[in-house]
Amino acid sequence: MRFKINEIGDGGLPVNVSVTTEWLAAACPDIDVRPAPDGLRFTGQITPAGDDYLLRGELRGDLETPCARCLEPALLHVDVPMTTTFVPAGTEDASDEEDEDADPDVVTFKGGEIDLSDELRDAIVLAIPFNPLCDEACRGLCPLCGGNRNLVPCTHAAASPKTPGGLAALGKIKL
Ligand SMILES: [Zn+2]
Ligand SMILES: [Zn+2]
Repeated sequence: MRFKINEIGDGGLPVNVSVTTEWLAAACPDIDVRPAPDGLRFTGQITPAGDDYLLRGELRGDLETPCARCLEPALLHVDVPMTTTFVPAGTEDASDEEDEDADPDVVTFKGGEIDLSDELRDAIVLAIPFNPLCDEACRGLCPLCGGNRNLVPCTHAAASPKTPGGLAALGKIKL
């Protein structure tokens, strides 16, 4: 995910990186997510602009993360445009400091290397919804028997707290 700026020519450097399961696990240790079998890939270009470097491209592919209801893998399609300006560390003037919060797409780099890791990680984290679902209609796990109600029809569905309680039913029988 690192690119040496002395390898970036005047015409720019094409970037084509694949997000691997290992990289993603290391970058997002707190999130249960991995690239889907078809993979996730960033394609774009780093272009010099004075002392700065402009990264432009797209993060595209699929991720897998557990469904919030049934815990089976939920497929997330990712198609995120990315634009970031890399500014050499130590050259930012005072006005940049004021803008720091206003312009999150400007980051500094040092050591003659541009590292895309943080940008890719942030884009991936933002692409994961709060409640990822394998399907909008996912029935989830049964709170009583723990079965996956998408796979096994489960009679406990009728016993959910929203339906009238068992006492009312008993009363009807006695009447
Ligand atoms: Zn589900
Ligand atoms: Zn059940």
